[in-house]
Amino acid sequence: MAGIEIAELSTVYPNGVRAVDGLDLTVADGEFFALLGPSGCGKTTLLRTMAGLEQASEGAVRIGDRDVTRLDPGARRVAMVFQDYALFPHMTVAENIAYPLRVRRMSKVSQRDAAERTSAGLSLGALLDRRPGQLSGGQQQRVALARAIAVEADVLLLDEPLSNLDARLRLEARTFLKKLQRDLGLTTVFVTHDQAEALALADRIAVMESGSIRQLGSPKEVFQRPVDTFVANFIGSTPMNLLDGLIADGMVEVAGARLAPPEGLDLVEGTPVVAGIRPEYLRVVPGAQEVTEGVAGILGAVAIVENLGVTSLVTIECADGTLVGLTVPEQHEPAVGTRLCVVPEAGRLLLYGGEDGLLL
Ligand code: ATP
Repeated sequence: MAGIEIAELSTVYPNGVRAVDGLDLTVADGEFFALLGPSGCGKTTLLRTMAGLEQASEGAVRIGDRDVTRLDPGARRVAMVFQDYALFPHMTVAENIAYPLRVRRMSKVSQRDAAERTSAGLSLGALLDRRPGQLSGGQQQRVALARAIAVEADVLLLDEPLSNLDARLRLEARTFLKKLQRDLGLTTVFVTHDQAEALALADRIAVMESGSIRQLGSPKEVFQRPVDTFVANFIGSTPMNLLDGLIADGMVEVAGARLAPPEGLDLVEGTPVVAGIRPEYLRVVPGAQEVTEGVAGILGAVAIVENLGVTSLVTIECADGTLVGLTVPEQHEPAVGTRLCVVPEAGRLLLYGGEDGLLL
């Protein structure tokens, strides 16, 4: 077992694209770590540079106490599972799992032992003689994982390993992966562009953009206190409300309302700000819709109602045209046209700089 240390790492492709740009990162021994970000932000390149499939242009990669920056992939003691699982179609499950061991010239007996041991843990025992074409997506994923684990690598690198599965299999596979990683205590770096997956699985998340890390923290930190409007926009299954506002008389003027600012901030009068409030953290003030003036909350009329299952996403339109989303229990869904007054729960209003978008 080993942690990973990345120092001032850059990976530049021959066409000049700086896919990883001076990045520092430490993944602890046994940690389940997610690299998250929009398409093209450099997640896969970073993972491939850790694995040695791409050459670092600058900086260093350490795994455990070894500097692996210039080592071949085979010498790094990393196992990688790709999006498409990359199973050999002409080999059986058992042969697929044992393949990396065969390449390492392990004895036939050791190959069989390792294949049996890992496949039993992954409930693949009954499938050992099948070929990949005779397996479901979830089963293929387990074979790919079994093959990666059989190598007894120091770290496991996963590139969107759940992206090919349908919604139900994906949830199942997610739970399974989390349990497997915990049981084995295997240092795992997981690339995904699905923020819900990262929030559910990871001990910590790095949100990337343009080859560098915008925010690094626990799922809770990244969800509750995004460091800038980019991360705020990206994280959350319903997007965070990011509303243009102004500091006036020590209050936050936004969408025609005057909200109390978060405590402890040194705010300058007249400063433009962006108020960040998650739809989950807005509450309806009962009866306040009758009042039209002097209310501390945001007033608006229900424009759209979307049923999300247990909750509904309600969008209200304020007098100045601002749209504000809030989630309500499905059974309390208001009718379109209803006037509502909403306020953020205590401590849930975030303020970002109007110009730089950074958390104040
Ligand atoms: P996705 O979620 O779409 O897979 P990603 O975050 O994993 O995206 P990368 O695949 O690492 O992003 O790509 C980062 C940048 O490097 C992109 O601008 C991409 O176009 C570029 N890139 C990726 N592979 C190569 C390559 N082989 N040669 C040149 N440029 C590349």
